[in-house]
Amino acid sequence: MENRNSRTEQLEKENRILKREYARLQQDLSMLSNLNDYASRLRKFNEERVVAANRAKSNFLANMSHEIRTPMNAIIGMDEMILRESQDMRISKYAMDIRSASKTLLSIINDILDLSKIESGKMEIIPVEYPTMSVFNDIANMTRKKAEEKGLTYELVVDKEIPAVLLGDEIRIRQIMLNIINNAIKYTTEGGVRIHVSYDRVTSRLRVVVSDTGIGIRPEDMEKLYESFQRLEETRNRNIEGTGLGLNITRQLVELMDGFIDVESEYGKGSTFTAEMVQKVVDDTPIGDFADNLARAQEQVEEYRPILVAPDARILIADDNDMNLEVITGLLKDTRINVTCVSSGREAVEYAGKERYDVILLDQMMPGMSGTEALAVIRDTHLADDTPVIALTADAIVGAREVYLREGFADYLSKPVMYEDLENILLKYIDPEHIYTREQIEEEEARREKPVVLVINDSAERLRDVRELLGDRFKGVFVKDEQQAGKYLSRHKVEFIIKDGGAL
Ligand code: ADP
Repeated sequence: MENRNSRTEQLEKENRILKREYARLQQDLSMLSNLNDYASRLRKFNEERVVAANRAKSNFLANMSHEIRTPMNAIIGMDEMILRESQDMRISKYAMDIRSASKTLLSIINDILDLSKIESGKMEIIPVEYPTMSVFNDIANMTRKKAEEKGLTYELVVDKEIPAVLLGDEIRIRQIMLNIINNAIKYTTEGGVRIHVSYDRVTSRLRVVVSDTGIGIRPEDMEKLYESFQRLEETRNRNIEGTGLGLNITRQLVELMDGFIDVESEYGKGSTFTAEMVQKVVDDTPIGDFADNLARAQEQVEEYRPILVAPDARILIADDNDMNLEVITGLLKDTRINVTCVSSGREAVEYAGKERYDVILLDQMMPGMSGTEALAVIRDTHLADDTPVIALTADAIVGAREVYLREGFADYLSKPVMYEDLENILLKYIDPEHIYTREQIEEEEARREKPVVLVINDSAERLRDVRELLGDRFKGVFVKDEQQAGKYLSRHKVEFIIKDGGAL
């Protein structure tokens, strides 16, 4: 009996302990679940913070790029005018340096913008039909000189079988090719660069292989190649311009095109980058001999000539920034198109009602009435139903074209406005009856051309005197020395040469 009692007591005791333990466990459990809750709330909060911070960063980058593009429009535009109008080779050389630095700056801005698009998942591939020959031509024009200036050999081999017209994002294809080729040139000091382009009809892929005999990449650095803002061997490469964004963007772009980028490299010997991108065939005719074509195209590279001359055409431009108006008017001077400038959306509406224009260009960001609002009024009131209206914008946002087309614009031009784009868009929309034919242009030119006097002298004062002497009857071309004179004479016809004050 006693035994049983003590057993019961024992059991009760154990029971109490167990209950206590159980209660404590439950307490721990609830604490754990609270902690869990707390942790997951914290995680969510952190995730939201990361998303918000990323969004803020992307917005900041996009806004900053927009803000920078606007003054760049003035810099690039005004510089283009100096290049066209200056007869003094020294000034032209400064202007060419400005052009080249502006292009670098613009490509950095574009890279930053691209990165922010990629990070916010907004990078889109916009396929268009494009002639392959013109892409390779432009790539050669944009890269060959740089390589040759560095004393490198440059070889661009384009397979004869590449289809004449492909469907894909032409702008991004150029960007990918330029990035890899420019890198090969940048990171090579001796030897050269070889580019081979081909098309695989089975996989529908355009294949670009770029080999260089440059500094090469260490095996342990291969992983870091595609990280953003990551540059290898910073001290060794500190004199080479770059941001470490190019390859990161390139890889994301080729992947968006169902392709890949690959690299093989031997440190100290050189590297080979291979990129493949899916591009559908539109016209399967093989492009043929690229080298032949390129030679012909290069012979035609000359001084600036407008793509169109249209003295009977009238266009209206609205922009609240005076300098932008000046740039566009200046860029169009040689096209002889009649340009009317206004500085607000309201005035654009007023003028559109008064006159008939071939094309209206409306800046987007105008205080009071934006370009889109002005267009809506012009369309609602049927002021200029047949006139194409083109949006001018510093936003390099994705799908911009689609957005503007939906709003009723015929097209859009992004700032900084490049004169080729401006002329091409006007050529597309101005009534062909208002555009001079090649023969008409040549006839006029022959009538207007002044005899050229080449002046070789490096004294600024003396040059001023000679300039005054030449007056309006002659076109003076001023060069510093005989070497520059030789260069000019190899490409132009000259009536007289004046050297150190005396005529030759
Ligand atoms: P960057 O603007 O610095 O050239 P990229 O993203 O294009 O940026 O390239 C990242 C890094 O990869 C470069 O800083 C360079 O160190 C290395 N790199 C790229 N291409 C080559 C090449 N052809 N040869 C050697 N190193 C290269």
